[in-house]
Amino acid sequence: DALQRKEEVDIPGGWKVGQPVPYAALAKAFSMIEATTKRLEKTAILTAFLLLVIERSENNPESLLQAVYLCINRLSPDYIGIELGIGESLLIKAIAESTGRTLALIKSDLKKEGDLGLVAMNSKNSQKTLFKPKPLNLPFVFAKLKEIALTSGNSSQAKKVSIITKLLAACQDVEAKYIIRSLEGKLRIGNAERSVLVALAQAAVLAEKEKVGKKWSQEKLATRLEQGTEVMKAVYSELPSYDQVIPALLKAGIDGIRQECKLTPGVPLKPMLAKPTKAIGEVLDRFEGKRFTCEYKYDGERAQVHRLEDGTVGVFSRNSEDMSKKYPDLMEQLPKCIKPSVKSFVIDAEAVAVDKEGKLLPFQELSRRKRKDVKVEDIQVRVCLFAFDLLYLNGEPLLQKTLEDRRKLLREHFQIVPGEFDFAKSSDSSSTEEIQTFLETSVKDGCEGLMVKMLDSSASYYEPSRRSVNWLKLKKDYLAGLGDSLDLAVVGGYYGKGKRTNVYGAFLLACYDADAEEFQTICKIGTGFSEEALQEFYAMLKPLELPAVRGDVKVGGAKPDVWFEPKVVWEVLTADLSLSPIYAAAQGLVEERGISLRFPRFIRVRDDKDADDATGPEQIAEMYERQSVVQGGGKKGGGDD
Ligand code: ATP
Repeated sequence: DALQRKEEVDIPGGWKVGQPVPYAALAKAFSMIEATTKRLEKTAILTAFLLLVIERSENNPESLLQAVYLCINRLSPDYIGIELGIGESLLIKAIAESTGRTLALIKSDLKKEGDLGLVAMNSKNSQKTLFKPKPLNLPFVFAKLKEIALTSGNSSQAKKVSIITKLLAACQDVEAKYIIRSLEGKLRIGNAERSVLVALAQAAVLAEKEKVGKKWSQEKLATRLEQGTEVMKAVYSELPSYDQVIPALLKAGIDGIRQECKLTPGVPLKPMLAKPTKAIGEVLDRFEGKRFTCEYKYDGERAQVHRLEDGTVGVFSRNSEDMSKKYPDLMEQLPKCIKPSVKSFVIDAEAVAVDKEGKLLPFQELSRRKRKDVKVEDIQVRVCLFAFDLLYLNGEPLLQKTLEDRRKLLREHFQIVPGEFDFAKSSDSSSTEEIQTFLETSVKDGCEGLMVKMLDSSASYYEPSRRSVNWLKLKKDYLAGLGDSLDLAVVGGYYGKGKRTNVYGAFLLACYDADAEEFQTICKIGTGFSEEALQEFYAMLKPLELPAVRGDVKVGGAKPDVWFEPKVVWEVLTADLSLSPIYAAAQGLVEERGISLRFPRFIRVRDDKDADDATGPEQIAEMYERQSVVQGGGKKGGGDD
């Protein structure tokens, strides 16, 4: 399919071999992807585009790298964190300056359209131009986006507006739409990052096929495509950095890339995650006859600690953010826990706040810490690292060793430093009574409950970026029958009544569908907040108010008084999910209607999560169905606005 689409994606006469990739070609591919809702078609278009990039740029890694980054709307690997996400007011200013329209006109168009990209494109196209600007190309656009992202300090706003204005002036046809959306930080073409990886794998396989002539049978091609995709997924989950993966792919091909790209200290991998369970019985059912271990589920922040051969140490968050500036104390503490046998390593751990006696403190204590530029002398609350996994040691990746072996190596090569470094407390017993007692002690010690993990066989290998059934979490909240916990983005607000008219009194929450790249409204939450909390949330959310709902929010029938930029994530507990005629979450997964939370309860702000880490619709559908089974059938109604 992708081969047939090559011609459609091409821009005749405008893209020659050896020349930089025209931005018009990328914008054309984006338009075609946006125009279809079919996932396979989206991937085929993208594959065709990437294949053309490989061929026309004669295997130049830089061209393919820029194309892939622009497709996932990034400028660097996550851990380097050069980010777009330019504020709306800056973009509106640049559109006004570049098209000669007034700010008021642009704002009113935005209210109608809900998409600044579209507004920019229409504004440009209604403008009369005397001569055609020089066509944009990928290296130029990429460099400009990077310059904008890196501009800081004095008068940076004016500098950014000036670069964006010039970029817009050079845009033709649909280009302005995608330039603006890239700058906003959301492409909204319904193209998940996973599909870009699949398209890249397929383009590499097809490039190989084109090179050797068309001698492959349909079966052989299908097998190669499937294998290629698997290989790329495996490689990228160990080494999530296109900076490394793409040059290796072009050099060694699909067959050789595994050899070239392995877990590397310094490049954080996406952590393995766990599935929730509601009772010890459920754990025993799932792990029946298998060997497993229970570990304390510490209430802190995930910390992936890396040490390179040269002694450099780095700490990365759950989202691969570099946390060394948040934890300078941890950086100082680390060398003490390493035995002389250790040269390089990657540890998976939880950083937990502790008091002077080493007693565990709740996550809130840690979340008060600034995320950057923390000075050791200013630190009030100490942090202790609880290591639960070893993923790499002295030049060797350990992902495909059993947890039992990894744990043994961890305990052999590292040492406890009281109050600073310890191994996650564990118990390998499989009797219900002992698990129950261990769970109770964990909660008494200040933990959230237990993590239950497979110990041996290939089922216990470390699975980067997977929410795996081989790791189960048993949280005390679930056990108390309080229900499911979800992480939801705050997308709207309702003004308070009575005494609360100067703050928001209630909030509209949404889940996030990563495939469709959209937020889906799920419930209104407004009870149980203290006056203080409402003040705090007002200060947090007011700066995120938008003139109109964003185009990537599936609203359903919700009608908040104000819309927010989806940025803030809250953990919310619900004992009851119901089908709803109003909210949009998981529509079509269980039924036409969406799913809503009844009686949602606010637990905490999750500032270690981004809006697009919010719980997904499949998980919500799963929770709903699990509950229906328990209660003997689906429930109706619910979810008033
Ligand atoms: P939540 O933290 O709300 O449970 P999550 O989506 O961040 O959800 P989960 O996979 O659901 O992640 O739960 C695992 C998290 O628990 C890890 O990300 C880690 O931060 C923390 N944790 C604490 N102790 C352990 C442990 N012994 N093993 C693994 N993870 C642990």
